[in-house]
Amino acid sequence: MTGICPEIDDTQAAQRLRAAGLRPTRQRVALVGLLYAHGKRHLTAETLHDEAVAAGIEVSLATVYNTLHQFTKARMLRQVAVDAARFYFDTNVDPHQHFYDQDHGILIDIPGDAIKVTGVPNPPRGTVIDRVDVVIRTVADRMPERRPRKGLGNIGDSGTSQWQDQRRPRAQKTRAGA
Ligand SMILES: [Zn+2]
Repeated sequence: MTGICPEIDDTQAAQRLRAAGLRPTRQRVALVGLLYAHGKRHLTAETLHDEAVAAGIEVSLATVYNTLHQFTKARMLRQVAVDAARFYFDTNVDPHQHFYDQDHGILIDIPGDAIKVTGVPNPPRGTVIDRVDVVIRTVADRMPERRPRKGLGNIGDSGTSQWQDQRRPRAQKTRAGA
């Protein structure tokens, strides 16, 4: 990755923050610029922190965590939990669900209308349903030739999943002390 090419500039980042009811501090503006620099994506706080460091933004991992949680609370981001220890921040806040490739730790968007969730019980008294999250967990297909081709993940020619082209290469990891 050479350099950062934000899709939104500082003014737009500040506008986005104000629209979400957040004060556009210098740090928040910088993080918003990074967050949306690569279109819709799923990322961890560690990934964003690595990107911030690479871009010369002085910010601690703790601040990145806090800021991402503030953005989530303000509905600029959505949080997707894949297990107890790992969750992603999703820059796509439109209704949609996910495939989770457990072998590679990759989330892949499923359009909002592709899954119908039925039989949802009434929520407890005094509450309403905010949203229903579906995470479909996948593993590598060990017997691709023998498996009947059906279901959401296998639409397309010659057994190619329609979802594969939505994958992005994982953000470059630059863990300190590696
Ligand atoms: Zn998503």
